[in-house]
Amino acid sequence: MESLVIAYMYPNLMNLYGDRGNMVCLEKRIGWYGHQCEVRTVNHNDRLDFQRIDMLFMGGGSDREQGLVYNDLLVKADKLMQEIEDGLPALFVCGAYQLLGTSYQSHEGTVLNGLGFFDLHTLGQKERLIGNILLESELEGELKTVVGFENHGGRTYFDDEQLKPFGTVVKGYGNNGEDGREGIRYKNLIGTYLHGPLLPKNPHVADFLIKAMAQRRGITLSEPLDDTIENFAHQQVKNRILAGK
Ligand code: GLN
Repeated sequence: MESLVIAYMYPNLMNLYGDRGNMVCLEKRIGWYGHQCEVRTVNHNDRLDFQRIDMLFMGGGSDREQGLVYNDLLVKADKLMQEIEDGLPALFVCGAYQLLGTSYQSHEGTVLNGLGFFDLHTLGQKERLIGNILLESELEGELKTVVGFENHGGRTYFDDEQLKPFGTVVKGYGNNGEDGREGIRYKNLIGTYLHGPLLPKNPHVADFLIKAMAQRRGITLSEPLDDTIENFAHQQVKNRILAGK
């Protein structure tokens, strides 16, 4: 039985609105697929051995927390981008997603340079974009809905029209409440504003990441899981969002 290793970045600082639940979801699903999952926390000054990880996860955080992790993340950035280019599965939520761009300006005007992985920038406003959100998102050639919760002051804008969003907004705000885009998709990386946590109510997104991990490690997964409960929960949230609740 192989063990898949997930690097959980700065869990004590970057973890808002249930983001840690994404780790619980992946651990459970990988176990149901017949393999072990090890979630390895990575904090300030911890060495990140990319040879020993199969996925990287980083949750959301307030402007203050983003500032606290940025310099440490910068030290790890070059190797991280090489691994992402090489297909490392990665999930960056909200404040973590914002740091992947060229800059993040808080609503008070403080500017953080981003990691510069993608040509996008974020401008913070005092009025926050808050609420349940419904997307349409294409993963593995299939267009499916994705549900979640968003709470961010930052408005993220693509400065490269070639960038691909994680999804398009059906109900809610998304990247900036204007252009209908939500998040970013690049190879096996997903950046998104969706908290909730994202994965338990969107099992196909969890499986996209798990399949990418398994494929890179050359291991096979058992039969598809029975997601009756997860899909019921997804539909319940989707119906509530469509009804404007
Ligand atoms: N501090 C950032 C913002 O307000 C990110 C918030 C978050 O991670 N939920 O936009």
